[in-house]
Amino acid sequence: MSATVIDGKMLSVSYKEKMKEQIVELEAKYGRKPCLAVIIVGEDPASQSYVRGKIKAAAFVGMDSRLIELPATISEEELLRHIADLNADGGVDGILVQLPLPRHINSNEVIEAITPMKDVDGFHPMNVANLWLGLDSMVPCTPKGIMKIIETSGINPDGKVAVIVGRSNIVGKPVAKLLLDANATVMIAHTHTEDLKAITLQADILVVAAGSLGLIKGDMVKPGAVVIDVGIGRNSEGKLSGDVDFEGAARVASYITPVPGGVGPMTITMLMENTIECFINRMHSL
Ligand code: NAD
Repeated sequence: MSATVIDGKMLSVSYKEKMKEQIVELEAKYGRKPCLAVIIVGEDPASQSYVRGKIKAAAFVGMDSRLIELPATISEEELLRHIADLNADGGVDGILVQLPLPRHINSNEVIEAITPMKDVDGFHPMNVANLWLGLDSMVPCTPKGIMKIIETSGINPDGKVAVIVGRSNIVGKPVAKLLLDANATVMIAHTHTEDLKAITLQADILVVAAGSLGLIKGDMVKPGAVVIDVGIGRNSEGKLSGDVDFEGAARVASYITPVPGGVGPMTITMLMENTIECFINRMHSL
């Protein structure tokens, strides 16, 4: 294996340690800590585990959190009322609604109901528009974490070819925009891409967010590339695994993120950073 494995867990701990100190300073300055409110609807085990991770991270950095657990049968109207209450609550700085929501609830309506000032996921249309316009915005957590990981690898995207596999609103598209802002030449591949290998082989920076286990084999990676594996799934043995064939890709890449322990921990850490950012913005706007 020749690639350096980027330890997302360790990296996230070092960011969170700095946040701990920052929160102590913020509390001394403003008289209270940042507070993240997390809404979970229903009992989906994966969502519950993600939410537990978020609440645990908030405790680790010393911020306040509120967990609002609602039944899967809740009406959209009632859920929107909870969001309106949190929007109006001066003690809440960030609001996150864990997705996916039950089918009878329109996720877009819910996302749009969160005030952009407290939209720690960066999914509100106002934040999305501001991101694409290059204005101040809340940057979605996974793409933000990916950029920190790339920075850590010592690779400056300026002038490099970056290929993103996947064009979702929460990962593929925003990470493409952030890499474009960092002056990379960006290509986005997706399910209609005709020759995926021909595209990925051009990538100095390869970000894979397809949700397709082991999609990227070693022979699809340009020698020396930085490979960021966003995918999370379970392989045939039930083990957490990514979209990249780790062993194969690590033989040719210069840097690679593992699954688990790569992008995932940084996503949660960036949620903490976004909550702090919302807190500071709100304190300045009062
Ligand atoms: P999504 O299903 O919304 O989008 C997947 C994208 O990949 C689509 O645009 C599709 O066109 C593309 N795609 C799928 N199969 C492909 C193929 N064979 N070839 C080329 N393109 C293909 O998924 P998402 O929400 O963006 O998530 C992607 C993966 O990342 C999932 O495994 C998800 O669990 C994971 N994820 C991880 C984190 C984290 O924090 N680590 C956060 C978000 C998502």
